[in-house]
Amino acid sequence: MEFQLKADLKCSGSVSEAVSSSEIAEFVKHCNAELLKKGAPPGCGAEIERWNVAGEKIGLKIVSDRFVRAHDALLRLKNEFGKFLGPHRIGIRGMEIEDYEIAMEWEEGLKIKKLPFVREIKQEEGMLKLFLDVDEFSLEKRIPDRIIRLLEDKKEAARWKGKKEHWELLFESNKKLFYFDKDPTEEMMKRGWIKHAAGRGQWIYGPQLTKIFRTFERILLDEVCKPLGYEEMVFPKFVTWDVWKRSGHAKGIYPEAYYVCTPKTRDPEFWEEVMDYYKVTNEVPLDMIMERIEPVGGMCYAQCPPFWVFLQGKTLPDEILPIKIFDRSGTSHRYESGGLHGIERLDEFHRVEIVWIGTKEQVIEHSKLLQEKYRRIFDEILDIEWREAWVTPWFMAQEGKAGLAELKEVGTIDYEAVLPYSGKWLEFQNVSVNGDKYPKGFSVKLQSGEELWSGCSGVGLERWAAVLLAQKGFDQDKWPAKFRSAVGKLPEIFRFL
Ligand code: ATP
Ligand code: ZN
Ligand code: MG
Repeated sequence: MEFQLKADLKCSGSVSEAVSSSEIAEFVKHCNAELLKKGAPPGCGAEIERWNVAGEKIGLKIVSDRFVRAHDALLRLKNEFGKFLGPHRIGIRGMEIEDYEIAMEWEEGLKIKKLPFVREIKQEEGMLKLFLDVDEFSLEKRIPDRIIRLLEDKKEAARWKGKKEHWELLFESNKKLFYFDKDPTEEMMKRGWIKHAAGRGQWIYGPQLTKIFRTFERILLDEVCKPLGYEEMVFPKFVTWDVWKRSGHAKGIYPEAYYVCTPKTRDPEFWEEVMDYYKVTNEVPLDMIMERIEPVGGMCYAQCPPFWVFLQGKTLPDEILPIKIFDRSGTSHRYESGGLHGIERLDEFHRVEIVWIGTKEQVIEHSKLLQEKYRRIFDEILDIEWREAWVTPWFMAQEGKAGLAELKEVGTIDYEAVLPYSGKWLEFQNVSVNGDKYPKGFSVKLQSGEELWSGCSGVGLERWAAVLLAQKGFDQDKWPAKFRSAVGKLPEIFRFL
């Protein structure tokens, strides 16, 4: 990696009048030998390649390798020049970045079209050249370092995408009898159990399927939550940007988020034009609304992040661990891609989110208990055919945690079941050990100073229903006995003429 930076230090007095150029030359030589090599291996570091002084300006051209990046060198020099000129009663008022060029080796196939704070990108012959558009403030905020980090992330993500190893079969259930070979969503529509709602990927669930959902919840409570000592909480369903910054979702949630906006002001006068327009046209004036609202976050996506605000900034006594809580208080929303399909892939869905918190050992141990309990449900109560797979999301590799994932300490187990009507496998829930990600993001500590870990598991009610009904069908006599008696009689309320 190569850095070339041209900048001016702006001084509070005329440097050329106060200091002779041989004195400056001596000082630059000294900086090149010591200051700009500090922390770098021998022969590496930064170098002032050219300098000139004109009145109150000191022009510098700095070249460097990755060991002392040129912007670091410049920040060091700003200080050092300050000390050098201090005795002459001259201070450094600021700096102007004229040009900043970063060049690095780059894979031909991975195109980079646009980057923040980069005015031009050239990509040729296995090299990537960035021409940055930065000022003093962005150098102090380490923007160039973050751009480099971002490029490394992009490289890693691309590498990860091409790999298959992040899906690994852990467990396969016995073969089970299937009693249905059609799409359960269509069957439910025919039976009047469900109807597509007004929104995209949104359904209205009639009394029958609702009763099935509630039965799933009860099974989950009786078989998992109660025996493992869980207590229920109510998590918020609107999520602020700050929460997503801390949970990491702010890095990539944008194409799938349901955005939430608030009015810029509540003043009815501010909104009068919108109301009048509607009254006159019967059309909701979207453009006029967009001008008057502000995006403040989004709807629940992963369910557990907004809970962490409850613990944010706190220190927990070790003896209350492990903590076990769950939430089933509302919907989750995702703007799904073309794959929207019946109740299998929805924009609005219902999920029970299970969260456990403890030391590393406790969290890993608890995940195993949870897995055992789930297996019992799928085997003995729902009697479905399913498999469990270890999946490593690429962001873990990116966070340097691929090693942990290989050890199977941090990562996710997806539970998948086959849908006989299509032969496809559908993920219907997961169990994740998240390491110290959330406690770190929300600054939660343990009294003993030991690392705090957490895990979570999302049970999708629509997915459970899709899987069960796809495999077992709608003839209740064919349903597994324990489930049948848990559901009881399905209510019949509506008839249409
Ligand atoms: P998929 O790969 O099917 O999109 P995901 O990996 O995005 O799933 P997670 O983010 O792990 O899913 O969410 C946890 C659980 O939430 C899933 O196992 C599933 O039960 C449920 N879920 C996620 N997305 C949807 C959706 N669009 N519709 C219905 N349920 C969903
Ligand atoms: Zn979660
Ligand atoms: Mg998804």
